[in-house]
Amino acid sequence: MIVVKVGGSAGIDYDAVCADIAARWKTGERLILVHGGSGETNRVAEALGHPPKFVTSPSGYTSRFTDRQTLEIFEMVYCGKMNKGIVERLQRLGVNAVGLSGLDGRILEGKHKDSVRAVENGKVKVLRGDHTGTVERVNTHLIDLLLAGGYLPVLTPPASSYDGVAINVDGDRAAAALAVALKADALLLLSNVPGLLRAYPDETSLIREIPAADVEHYLEFAQDRMKKKVLGAAEAVQGGVRRVIFGDARNGEPVSAALNGQGTVVS
Ligand code: ADP
Repeated sequence: MIVVKVGGSAGIDYDAVCADIAARWKTGERLILVHGGSGETNRVAEALGHPPKFVTSPSGYTSRFTDRQTLEIFEMVYCGKMNKGIVERLQRLGVNAVGLSGLDGRILEGKHKDSVRAVENGKVKVLRGDHTGTVERVNTHLIDLLLAGGYLPVLTPPASSYDGVAINVDGDRAAAALAVALKADALLLLSNVPGLLRAYPDETSLIREIPAADVEHYLEFAQDRMKKKVLGAAEAVQGGVRRVIFGDARNGEPVSAALNGQGTVVS
């Protein structure tokens, strides 16, 4: 079992990702696809007059502040446009894909965090009305049913809180939790960069290998949202996933290339 997470940043070639996945699926390989949608969500939010608000925690992690209206826009794009766009591509390639969010069947569950500590103008403030959380529990039953029935699950945030409220969760860490729960052989975190770069944005500074025991030490090279990928990789390997690969989804055969060791391999 392989868990593939494809990001939502500019430059990602979803046709290439889906074609590669379809070819592998047809050889009998079992996998699930998790996707993001941040770039498109930002565009739609601007167009709807509710521009995105990003906050930085005192420890330096950036996340989207998700009030109720933002959550609804987020769902329109992630569960709607992005998810159905990927399912349609796979269906056209002859793969019976099923798109679901973490809320459906409570596949992804976590605690609802209503407030967030954010640094604004050098001061720490508490912002309330946030619909975010972190995946703490994965209910694999529905995924197992789909896989047993020959369907390829295509999953996206949001997750469900323990009270059934939709919460925005980080896609990379959600994919890591899924990989652990499904005892996946590998987790691929595909984005619009060749992997983890020692000197971002210099693409020649690619870090090719990271020993699993050391992955958290590499947080220092990751800025802003890349930090969540490194954190997700750490959670996955600590949870028993043998290989996590940060790979490039901009062209070629992104899944096969990553599985062949192109990118940053954490093992
Ligand atoms: P996605 O939405 O595709 O999952 P993110 O935008 O969340 O991806 O994270 C990937 C981004 O992280 C890259 O596009 C890049 O701008 C940024 N980044 C920050 N530091 C690094 C680094 N050291 N190596 C690679 N990318 C980095």
